[in-house]
Amino acid sequence: MDYLPLFLQLRSQPAVVVGGGRVAVRKVDLLLKTGARVTVVAPELREELHKLAASGALRHISAEFEAAQLDGAVIVIAATNDHEVNTAVSAASRARRIPVNVVDDPALSTFIFPAIVDRSPIIVAVSSGGESPVLARRVREQIEAILPAKLGALARFMGERRKAVQRALGIAARRPFWERIVGGLVGTRVLAGDGAGARKAFESELRTSQLTTSPVTGGNELGEVYLIGAGPGDPDLLTLRALQLLQQADVVLYDRLVPDAVLDRSRRDAERIFVGKGGTARLTRAAQAASERATPAQEAGDHAVQEHIHELLVHFARKGLRVARLKGGDPFVFGRGGEEIEVLIKHGIPYISVPGITAALGAASYAGIPLTHRRLAQSVTFVAGHVLEDDSLDWRSLAGPRQTVVFYMGVSHLDRIVAKLREAGAPASRPAAVVERATLPEQRTVAGTLETIAHRARKANVKAPALLIVGEVTAFAAPDTVLAADARKDGSLSHGALV
Ligand code: SAH
Repeated sequence: MDYLPLFLQLRSQPAVVVGGGRVAVRKVDLLLKTGARVTVVAPELREELHKLAASGALRHISAEFEAAQLDGAVIVIAATNDHEVNTAVSAASRARRIPVNVVDDPALSTFIFPAIVDRSPIIVAVSSGGESPVLARRVREQIEAILPAKLGALARFMGERRKAVQRALGIAARRPFWERIVGGLVGTRVLAGDGAGARKAFESELRTSQLTTSPVTGGNELGEVYLIGAGPGDPDLLTLRALQLLQQADVVLYDRLVPDAVLDRSRRDAERIFVGKGGTARLTRAAQAASERATPAQEAGDHAVQEHIHELLVHFARKGLRVARLKGGDPFVFGRGGEEIEVLIKHGIPYISVPGITAALGAASYAGIPLTHRRLAQSVTFVAGHVLEDDSLDWRSLAGPRQTVVFYMGVSHLDRIVAKLREAGAPASRPAAVVERATLPEQRTVAGTLETIAHRARKANVKAPALLIVGEVTAFAAPDTVLAADARKDGSLSHGALV
């Protein structure tokens, strides 16, 4: 180890920055955050520093550098672009045994700055020992992505309650208690920004812990459910929160729209249960019987599967487990997320819902189709394309010009959808596109018009999952996807093929 990592308490301590340019601004900002008393030595200051000096946030010595300016300082930073001055600052600091950093010059420095992930009071510092700042920054970015934005709030939440917990619990019970706070309901509530829910859960957790004699078995009787939108397929389209909760969950319930690459982002030792149609996991006799009674008709089959999912959610949460319910796209867009939260609310099971990128957004983006466009489409409508039978849809309005209409679950009904639109007055020449397996490596786009699209899709043997997008904007699909398909052949970015 070439450097000792440590965190320096600088509150009210004198710090000197030599230099008044862009780099100095960054260092001054950092020092001010720690509460240091900052002096800037420079004949001239940049606007930002000038303002800080005028407001009294820092002291400005408007002069060339002299060694005596460092007297009394506990830390020195040289941020000039003059090597001679930087060398002088370094020498004067060393002579006074003051830690000094010369920006971008480890040889002249006695300490170096790490790349920082700031979730104060949690701070992560990363250093490559000056070998490769770029690499250190990359590591920092990766950590940045894993750590929830509200981690600092969680640390403060716990800090504020330390004394109360010390009074309430014996030494042996404290650590398991805090482990449950971080890993359970309270933690996820704070991280999701639900302060009231967190406080309530904390108090109930503390009461339970006081009542239980064994600190190990106490508390957290009730688990929770994370209703997570997994996006349309590309695992890189998961949200940061989805990733964080997937890393926590003990059980993951997923269906067929969730590819392995997404599932692989969950915790290694989590139990993964497939709950899609044709799934084998059957928890109770009731669910088994329900699915056996179900007629082959899709509606009835769906119903049994959905009931089964409800039972599983309740069952695992009651066991005190953290259950991730991973759904394709967004849980609340044609995803029956509404029914699932109804059940959770009825059973008093806490849940958090995490939005996902819905298939229409993923497909449009990867196929190069802007869903709205100043000239071509002022609105966009998402329609469930499989419920044509009960037909509560306003086809006249869907057939109107200057809009985009996206039909989910519509591939097997293409002919009927097109016929309905045509009957309602949409012209045969209106552009349309079908996007199959959007955002996945096998993505394909079939482009055409209302006249040709059904035939073309059939010829290309398009299968679910696929979306039908109708509107002038789909004309954009052609050139973009051809380019992307070419790029894919080179092994570069895969946007899919145009059929
Ligand atoms: N909740 C999901 C939709 C579920 S309904 C969401 O927000 O995306 C299932 C339908 O979504 C499929 O029949 C198909 O029309 C569409 N779909 C889901 N994933 C898709 C994908 N990767 N490419 C194209 N369509 C997709």
